[in-house]
Amino acid sequence: MRYATLAERKEFYTKEFKIGSLANWFGDKMDRTKFALIMGKHTNIFLDKYKKDISTTIIIDQYNGLTDIRKQIIDFLPEAVYYDRNRYDETGQKIGQELAFDLDPENINCPIHGTLEDKIKRGQGLSFCKIELEMVRKKTNKLYKYLEGTFSAMRIVYSGRGFHLHVLDECSYGLNTKQRLKLAREVKHAGFPIDEWVTSGEHRLIRLPYSLNGLVSRIVLPLEKREIERFNAIYDHRCIPKFLDKSSFNGRSV
Ligand SMILES: [Zn+2]
Repeated sequence: MRYATLAERKEFYTKEFKIGSLANWFGDKMDRTKFALIMGKHTNIFLDKYKKDISTTIIIDQYNGLTDIRKQIIDFLPEAVYYDRNRYDETGQKIGQELAFDLDPENINCPIHGTLEDKIKRGQGLSFCKIELEMVRKKTNKLYKYLEGTFSAMRIVYSGRGFHLHVLDECSYGLNTKQRLKLAREVKHAGFPIDEWVTSGEHRLIRLPYSLNGLVSRIVLPLEKREIERFNAIYDHRCIPKFLDKSSFNGRSV
């Protein structure tokens, strides 16, 4: 896992980005969805013409379908693409929010690397190891089962680092901040290392399924519930972009 270059981002979004699958992901829920890009905040890899905006969150709310979204992504070549979980009405007022849970490997207490605090002390706050990845996969599976009693339309997405659990039940869009916070704390107390700000709604951006996570060169991949049991982010070809598949055979990337 490594940073993707600009040429690789371009190759991915030109040839591999599955906007058909993305359209299926949104179904009839894409109305007025906003998208967001970050050019080079973590990787420091960016197009010169956007130098001033490397860390800016660029919001895309003017577009003509997903083909146009792809075109705009190819123009910016960002390290990360997100969508806004908020729902808006025609006047731009927020009318609800998709509920989500974010489980990241760096929040796992690793038997080798310790707690997140230990990792930050060593300057490894954003890195993670195979053990943490495996532990976070199991936690995600457990969280799915834990929430099954409450929600019925859940989707798991591999984010390139950890996992996101999206709740698509209609009733969950109307939860207020207090209810979301209560749910987040309940889930934390049950032993799950989730990002409270994502669940409470404070962080409303979430990685766009099928986009490229340019920090690790992995494709953000929705998974069936049964797939999470055996999913392996290191070897699963569906989340490995072609430029990396190639380089693994040739020994180096072009
Ligand atoms: Zn570790």
